[in-house]
Amino acid sequence: MNIIIMGPPGAGKGTQSEKILAYCNIPHISTGDMFREAIKEGTELGKLASSYINQGLLVPDEVTIGLVKERLAKPDCQKGYLLDGFPRTLAQAEALEKLTQEISRPIQLVINITCEKDALIKRISGRRVCPKCGNSYHVEFKKPMVDGVCDNCKSELVQRKDDTIESLQVRLNAYENQTKPLIEFYDKKGLLKEVDGLKDISDVFKDIQKVISEVAK
Ligand code: ADP
Ligand code: ADP
Ligand code: ZN
Repeated sequence: MNIIIMGPPGAGKGTQSEKILAYCNIPHISTGDMFREAIKEGTELGKLASSYINQGLLVPDEVTIGLVKERLAKPDCQKGYLLDGFPRTLAQAEALEKLTQEISRPIQLVINITCEKDALIKRISGRRVCPKCGNSYHVEFKKPMVDGVCDNCKSELVQRKDDTIESLQVRLNAYENQTKPLIEFYDKKGLLKEVDGLKDISDVFKDIQKVISEVAK
């Protein structure tokens, strides 16, 4: 399967991606995770990306597109991909059309997770992530087995630097202005499926399984 998962910051893209992967055995391409990895490693890309991410701004298109181009060209993407957090601008979506043609893996499904602002604020402010393996948790909605400790690798959980109210406001504006137009872009192509992200994590996943199985038929 060749899938994109979209939605505002905090809608549940990462959480649902983890579940989709266990079900669809395809590589997970999260531009947010790739940038955080580069920041951790202190690479040139990381330095550049952090100056945008810490302010809640989008990393420039040419940088982000270059990163995804390299990733999609790797052999594991020949069995499909799950793009999470990319594309986020029309320029990225247009570039992606070309990239997916080049690897003969056209997008089959765009899952848009909808969610209201109040819920996004609660989710972002309670989000805790594992700095080592990237798993994400919530202090109320998705508690780890032991408080503050990753179930998967036992590292100490942290709060993302950009998960502040101020940064969320900037990210929501970026979403409204730059990312939302993509909903119409993919709807016109007949690829868009919306799922209600306000439901419980497991119910959202049930709805996602339904739309995936419809497309896989
Ligand atoms: P969220 O959980 O808020 O949806 P992500 O983990 O997907 O965030 O991304 C974190 C940050 O990384 C974004 O706020 C943005 O600065 C940067 N980023 C991620 N993906 C992209 C992209 N496709 N284009 C530009 N910037 C991106
Ligand atoms: P995104 O990748 O879209 O930014 P995440 O998957 O990281 O979002 O989810 C944001 C936060 O909200 C995390 O702390 C996660 O545990 C929590 N969360 C995700 N989906 C739900 C849900 N359906 N109901 C309640 N909390 C959720
Ligand atoms: Zn971990």
